[in-house]
Amino acid sequence: MPDAPPFPDIASLWQETAAPRPVFGRLETDTACDVAIIGGGYTGLCAARALAGFGLAPVVLEASRVGWGASGRNGGVVGAKFRIAFSEMAKRFGLETARRMHALGQAAVEGVGETVESLAIEGADYRPTGALRCAHTPGHLAALRAEADWLRDVLGDSHVRLLGPEETARETGSQDFCGSMLTGHGGIIHPLNYAFGLARGVQAAGVPLFEESPALRLERERGGLRVITPRGSLWAKQVLIATNGYSDLTPATAAVRRGVIPFRSAMIATAPLTGAQAADLLPEGRSYTETRRMMRWFRRADGRLLYGGRGAFGTSDRASAFAALERAMLRQFPGLEGHPVTHRWSGLVAMTLDSLPHLGPAEDRVVHCLGYNGTGVAMASHIGREAARLLCGETPDAGLLGSLPLRPVPFYPLRAPAVRAVAGWYQLLDALGR
Ligand SMILES: Cc1cc2nc3c(=O)[nH]c(=O)nc-3n(C[C@H](O)[C@H](O)[C@H](O)COP(=O)(O)OP(=O)(O)OC[C@H]3O[C@@H](n4cnc5c(N)ncnc54)[C@H](O)[C@@H]3O)c2cc1C
Repeated sequence: MPDAPPFPDIASLWQETAAPRPVFGRLETDTACDVAIIGGGYTGLCAARALAGFGLAPVVLEASRVGWGASGRNGGVVGAKFRIAFSEMAKRFGLETARRMHALGQAAVEGVGETVESLAIEGADYRPTGALRCAHTPGHLAALRAEADWLRDVLGDSHVRLLGPEETARETGSQDFCGSMLTGHGGIIHPLNYAFGLARGVQAAGVPLFEESPALRLERERGGLRVITPRGSLWAKQVLIATNGYSDLTPATAAVRRGVIPFRSAMIATAPLTGAQAADLLPEGRSYTETRRMMRWFRRADGRLLYGGRGAFGTSDRASAFAALERAMLRQFPGLEGHPVTHRWSGLVAMTLDSLPHLGPAEDRVVHCLGYNGTGVAMASHIGREAARLLCGETPDAGLLGSLPLRPVPFYPLRAPAVRAVAGWYQLLDALGR
């Protein structure tokens, strides 16, 4: 692992529009704490704040800078959903479990609003404007209708509504969709300012936070663990691994590495919209996703259109992946032809075999909390707080996320070609409208 400065800057819109970042020093001594938290994203920061609230002494170690991982690069979509539909959860795990998970998603979204308010994170610019899921075929619209009916009739969710093609065109400024499902839960946020605000809140709670301090390895010592970093070490009674898509940077997180498949997700941002585009595209300022398997999502920010989807396979960005994203954006918003794309960036999300996040013991005195499958703004914040309960010896209230084991990915060395093959299959199905 390279030394300071360890990681490149991310050329994201968020970096350009963020408040001044809070700066934390490196760990340069040998010290002790109750819980060593590995990872300075939403999960680690929310766990740290909650642990301090419970009267424990945590310390956060971040390999790079706070919010350098997915937490500072994401689309800022604050959503209450999981990768598995709630009706599907009911079939597989029972109605009560689906009900519990639905409540968990809503609590996670509400938690973002409460946190932004309690820490007065103004730059987070949180707007609970709701989420629109747009159908790309009549078959997918029928599936959305069935899901909306089920949510209303079975779970009593009165915040969902189905929109026809005209209303969807008015909502999006695109003719590409045959309808959509609007849900009142969720909204949009400036993700990097949210991460910075959380870090300031952690600091205000008296929790030491160290940047450019990668946990290199864990050593068992005196009934606890010593976390070794390049310039100092931290003895802790317990360790929380909160590294999500970045769980293979060092051997310190080896206990969870095989449980997640890192998948590159990419974003582009246009120059500020002008004239009719500014008035017509996504005027309600919600978050927007579509029903394709290789899902794309979009929103407004800073007067621009942000558009996200699958990134390059492998360890770094590729111009071809951004070009594919731009072509997809132009298919849905042809009026943007010739309008410049000014920002291109990507980051890693963590997929799991069961498509669900996981909170639980990784090994003795080591807890993991990760696997958000690309939807972690609200959930990482929420489950991070639940991880604090687990570390305090309480039973967390995390539904399936706390009860299913994090299964290791079979044939782990073959994960990259496997992901490529699955993505190719999904793209074919999308192209066929299946
Ligand atoms: C491009 C993109 C768009 C996305 N869009 C959305 C969206 O719109 N809505 C949504 O809900 N979710 C979205 N996500 C997913 C969401 O951002 C993540 O689920 C969430 O940020 C995970 O937070 P985290 O704290 O668990 O992990 P991260 O924020 O990834 O943080 C992990 C941290 O661990 C650190 N680390 C790793 N190893 C070590 C070590 N050995 N020692 C110390 N530190 C270490 C890394 O440097 C990193 O900062 C998106 C993700 C990406 C990449």
